[in-house]
Amino acid sequence: MQYEGREESSNVEDQRGGGGYGGGFGGFGGGGGGPRMAMGGGVGTLVIFVVLMLLGVNPMRLLNPGGGQAPPGQGAPGRQGGPPPGQDEYADTVKLIKVVLKDTEDVWHAEYPKLGRGQYRDPKLVLFTQNVRSGCGLASANMGPFYCPADRKVYLDVQFFDELRDRFGAKGDFAVAYVVAHEIGHHVQNLAGISDQVHAARERLSEAEYNKLSVRLELQADFLAGVWAKRVDQTKKVLDPGDIEEAIEAARAVGDDRLQKQARGYVKPESFTHGTSKQRARWFNRGYETGDIKQMSDLFELEYNQL
Ligand SMILES: [Zn+2]
Repeated sequence: MQYEGREESSNVEDQRGGGGYGGGFGGFGGGGGGPRMAMGGGVGTLVIFVVLMLLGVNPMRLLNPGGGQAPPGQGAPGRQGGPPPGQDEYADTVKLIKVVLKDTEDVWHAEYPKLGRGQYRDPKLVLFTQNVRSGCGLASANMGPFYCPADRKVYLDVQFFDELRDRFGAKGDFAVAYVVAHEIGHHVQNLAGISDQVHAARERLSEAEYNKLSVRLELQADFLAGVWAKRVDQTKKVLDPGDIEEAIEAARAVGDDRLQKQARGYVKPESFTHGTSKQRARWFNRGYETGDIKQMSDLFELEYNQL
């Protein structure tokens, strides 16, 4: 993807180095604890986190016993704005993220109104390391990228992309773009009221049923990432050959089946929350082929085994 010298979003809050426990930049490259496997973490903490969130439970109580929750929108105390210029080893990735975020803003301002649910409103994107206080509680980088509906912010640890590349084999700038676009897809769902519907349905569903609903939501976010890729390609002509393949490979890399196999050697389909590698690639691809946001609800009309 061409991103050098292109316009960057101003909706990025760089809280790197100002993490929940006051960790400085010394924390960089320190091995980083457990596996980062959100984006598809069928076995990760994110699942518990999201489920608790949807249940209305504050996951922070688990992660930070005795701690209070920061008001939504209030960033971590301490340094803001990230590493000093010239000392940011992730400067290039951060630039890419900001350009992609700007591209999502432009595409969704044009496309979202087609749903007939009002205008698109820009979310914020928070860059962090280690821990971050979100409107959904304290979060750890181990949980991977996530979107918090309560404060309408995407939370991203740039080191996740090292892991995506080195451990899950998803390379290239468009793998990064896919991850950002997927999280922004959750924001589109939130604006459209879908996240609320899922929240309301949670109480009547068994865990297995809820997991199936979660898979649909995640595949829909992949579909929206595909729609975004198509529209940004059409309107800005900034995609390079191989970009779509990079996104599809990233979608495959974070499929529940592949992650579970990697983590514990076997697969447990009833615990899937994000969809299989094949499903994720398929729904990204379908979004890319149609480029049509209005088809996002089709996915909820199919039988589960047709997804
Ligand atoms: Zn997701």
